[in-house]
Amino acid sequence: MASRELFGLAATALRSNLAPLAHPYKLTFSITYRCQSRCLTCNIWEMKPVNELTLHEIEEFARLNTSFRWIELTGGEPFLRSDLIQIVKAFREHSKGLYLLTMPTNSLCNAEMVLSRVKEVLATGVPRLSITVSLDGYRELHDRIRGVPGNFDRAISIFKGLREMQKAHRNLFVIFGYTMSKFNQGQFEKTFEAVRNEIPDLSYNDFHINLGQVSEIYYSNTDLDMKAPRDALLGELESIVGKRRFQLGAIPAIESAFLRNLVGYVRTGRTPLRSRSLDASLFLDSYGSVFPSIMWGRKIGNIRESGYSLDPIWRNTGAEEVRRLIREDKEPSGWTACEAYQALVGNVPRILI
Ligand code: SF4
Repeated sequence: MASRELFGLAATALRSNLAPLAHPYKLTFSITYRCQSRCLTCNIWEMKPVNELTLHEIEEFARLNTSFRWIELTGGEPFLRSDLIQIVKAFREHSKGLYLLTMPTNSLCNAEMVLSRVKEVLATGVPRLSITVSLDGYRELHDRIRGVPGNFDRAISIFKGLREMQKAHRNLFVIFGYTMSKFNQGQFEKTFEAVRNEIPDLSYNDFHINLGQVSEIYYSNTDLDMKAPRDALLGELESIVGKRRFQLGAIPAIESAFLRNLVGYVRTGRTPLRSRSLDASLFLDSYGSVFPSIMWGRKIGNIRESGYSLDPIWRNTGAEEVRRLIREDKEPSGWTACEAYQALVGNVPRILI
C-alpha cells in the first residue's frame, strides 16, 4: 500500500523535472502563525494572527485540490491548532496519493498532547509521517536562542517520546531540526554531546541542518542579522557531513543529499538546483495566500478569492511569470529544505552522488 504511494510520489517528482505539472504534488502549508517561542532567528512569534483559515475552509481546499503526495504542515507551531487531526483527515480523505506528511514542533505545547496528536495522525493511516523537533543548541544555548527557559529539556522529552512511539510505528520518522546562525556558530559539537548525554544512541543522522533564513513573507525577519561567517560555517558543515553514516531509506538519502548540497551552496553562494516552485510545489499561508515558496514573497493569489481551488491560481499570469523567472535563474537564491527536497527528489543523480 505505502509502496504504491511512494512509487507515485517518485514518479510524479521525476515527471515534474521534465515539465511543469498540471497540479502541484508538494504543499507547504502554514496552518497557523501562532507561536509560543521567542526565537532570535525568526519573528513569527511576534505576529498576532487574526482571520486565519478555518477548518471548514481548509476542508474545502482539501476537497477541491487532491493532487498532493507530500504535505508539510508548518507554523508557527502546528500543534497549537486544536483541529490539527481534522486538517490531516481532510487531506488524507481527498489526496489519495498522499505519501509523506511532515511537521515541525518547537516542543512548547504539552508533551502528552503532542504525543497523543502524533498517535492520532498515525491512526489516519498516513503512509509516512516525519516530525522535526527543533533544537538549536545545548541546554543554555537553545533556551537563549529560543527565548524560553526549559525548552531544551522539553525538546529532549518529546524526541524521546517519539522515539518510543517508533517501536510500534515504523512509518514514523523523527529528527532534530538544527538551525545554524551566528547565535550558535561553532556550537554543534557541544550541542551533539549535550544531547547524547540524554540520548546515548544518538547519531549525526538524527539531525537535520538548516541555515537561518531571511524571508519577508514567512519568518518576517528581514530586519534580523543572523549570518555566521562563511568560512566558519563551511568548516562546521563539512565536519557534520563527514560524521554522518550511510543509512538506507529514501528520507535519509535525501537528507544526506540536501546536506552535501548545502555545503556547496555555502561555498559558492549559488543555489545548487533550480527550485521546483510552481512546477511541483507551492507555499500556502494561514490566510490563504499562495506564494511560490516560503522564501519568495511574490503572491500569486489567494484561495479565498478563487473558491478554494488552486486551478485558476496555478495557471494565472503571476504563476507563469514566476516560472519564467525561475527558468532564467532570476529566483531569489536559497537552499532551504522546504524547497530543496522536491528539487532533489526530481533529480536522482543529485541524491546518489
Ligand atoms: S522559528 Fe518556529 S518556533 Fe521560532 S518563532 Fe519561528 S515559528 Fe516560532
